[in-house]
Amino acid sequence: MSGKAKIAPTTDLPLLMQALRDQGITDPQVLAAIEKTPRDLFTPDLFKARSWEDSALPIACGQTISQPYIVGLMTQALTIEPRSRVLEIGTGSGYQTTVLSHVSRLVYTIERYRTLMKEAEARFARLGLTNVITKFGDGGEGWAEQAPFDRIMVTAAAEDDPKRLLSQLKPNGVLVAPIGKGPVQSLRRYAGDGKGGFKVEVLCDVRFVPLLDGVARDQ
Ligand code: SAH
Repeated sequence: MSGKAKIAPTTDLPLLMQALRDQGITDPQVLAAIEKTPRDLFTPDLFKARSWEDSALPIACGQTISQPYIVGLMTQALTIEPRSRVLEIGTGSGYQTTVLSHVSRLVYTIERYRTLMKEAEARFARLGLTNVITKFGDGGEGWAEQAPFDRIMVTAAAEDDPKRLLSQLKPNGVLVAPIGKGPVQSLRRYAGDGKGGFKVEVLCDVRFVPLLDGVARDQ
């Protein structure tokens, strides 16, 4: 026998991290934030074994936990600074929120399903996150009392430019959102030009659940 005995990893996290790097997620802060976020805490029992796959998975209320690559891409595209106050629309499982919390000063997050919000809040408490502020409500309206934000991330697809949310962004802020009506949308990055206008870039095709109006009454 020669060489060192191979120790099998207890999760496939190292493989996932390599896959993200191979696909162009290179920001060290973003990679570190994903690496320290235990995705298996956010996936439902039925899909626990697939927590470290680079794929979106179903969660309660007919919603999804985002694919890690897309979480990395969107977080990287937001070019967050340590002092940034970030607004996230669509808490879902809270996975993307947790990644954001590791790279920003404060994260405000809004979800329209009370069930998902409660579950996500329990996860934030369990992880001891102290910089996440949650709200049950319609994220399409933004969070006027806390505006303006340095960064905004929308994790549900808006049909067109999210004007209301853009109005809650600082003049040099950045907003990233999937935009489009069908099952496939384009991920757009809006960068404020400091004079009330935006430079808009299309990053890639994505598949998100739609941004719906109002709150869900029953779940
Ligand atoms: N970032 C999440 C992905 C959630 S999927 C994660 O990592 O798990 C998108 C979420 O947006 C769903 O939970 C959906 O209920 C929510 N959503 C859709 N429209 C919304 C709205 N108008 N306001 C708040 N949340 C909304």
